[in-house]
Amino acid sequence: MGWACREKESKCRKTFVLSYMKKYFKKELEVLEKKGLRRALRQQEGTQGRKITVNGKEVLNFCSNNYLGLAGDERLCEAAKKSLELEGFGSGASRLICGNMESHQKLEKAIAEFKGTESCLLFSSGYMANGGIISSLFDRGDIIFSDKLNHASIVDGILLSRADFKRYPHRDMKVLEKMLKGSDKCKKRIIITDSVFSMDGDIAPLDKIVALAQKYYCLVMVDEAHALGIMGKSGKGLVEHFGVEDKIDIQMGTLSKAAGSFGAYCCGSKELVELLKNKARSFIYTTGLPPSVAAASQKAIGIIKEDEGLRKQLWKNTVYLHEALRNSGFDTMNSETPIIPILVKDSNVAVEFSKRLFDEGIFISAIRPPTVPHNMARLRLTVMATHNQDDLDFLLKKMQKIGKELCLI
Ligand code: PMP
Repeated sequence: MGWACREKESKCRKTFVLSYMKKYFKKELEVLEKKGLRRALRQQEGTQGRKITVNGKEVLNFCSNNYLGLAGDERLCEAAKKSLELEGFGSGASRLICGNMESHQKLEKAIAEFKGTESCLLFSSGYMANGGIISSLFDRGDIIFSDKLNHASIVDGILLSRADFKRYPHRDMKVLEKMLKGSDKCKKRIIITDSVFSMDGDIAPLDKIVALAQKYYCLVMVDEAHALGIMGKSGKGLVEHFGVEDKIDIQMGTLSKAAGSFGAYCCGSKELVELLKNKARSFIYTTGLPPSVAAASQKAIGIIKEDEGLRKQLWKNTVYLHEALRNSGFDTMNSETPIIPILVKDSNVAVEFSKRLFDEGIFISAIRPPTVPHNMARLRLTVMATHNQDDLDFLLKKMQKIGKELCLI
């Protein structure tokens, strides 16, 4: 076959593949649409706060992880601006090459001091932290015990590690103990759990997990993404709530939720952090965070440490809404935190609930499978310290009205 023919054939093939794939993508999207599972981006304008502008409409925000309202806080913006003047915007390379800026180092020191651990390592996001930590420390032949509802980034990290993946039913310590008893003691073993479960708002029984880990010579790793700044007297997380700070081997957390910033950390021993610097691929092979982001995070850690008032207000709002929603007849599952699920079950009803709330000026997104199990669709309502009493009462009034219309209460 001559070159001309080959070129013609490859062009036809290309067109065929493109049109075939386009049809395939369209079909897949139609399937998602029919099941009420298609997701779409909405545009937000202005800063993140208790009120935000979504697709041009100002609404009360009840679905953000910005629990303390720090994402739009002037003090964080000022810290970032100062760093921009001194360090510029990008960090230019991975931290092990020439992208290790002063703000990164200062933040690591501040987090380690706050958490009371020997050392700390920054990652560019929580997703990357879990992938990097788990896959670099565990390998084929090791055993990882993981709560069934752990975050997707933990699941992906475990799959990447190729370790033996043992899922225990959500918060079920009896089954976890059975699994520990029956597992090979000679292998490296770890229990990994979210602190606050991101879609259910309930908390891990960390005291019991630690007791089991000690009994069966097993390591423990916690993901404090939704606990930093919220749980514990000084906001150190669930480890502080249960007083088990010194019994946890790996404390991971994100700076993207209550800290209002971006990025993540891993706290633990000096040796752990040194090993991660050498082996965690999501740390080694990626550009360092923009230093201004690290500077803003450091400010946020300072505020969490010093401003107990924000945390107190968050809990006051949380307790008020929990009680009022339960008394109204909504199923809020076993939530004990500012993450309050409103169980709806049917995905289409969840979407309709969210849509009607939006029309009334309230933004709460519908959470559907595969993020939650089949027939467990819900609204994921989150409380902020900056919501005022009028916001909470307006939300309740509208939720009760729409809840009745949709026969949920
Ligand atoms: N862990 C948990 C429990 C989370 O909820 C999230 C974010 N939703 C992450 C990790 C990932 O964090 P990030 O958004 O910083 O990637």
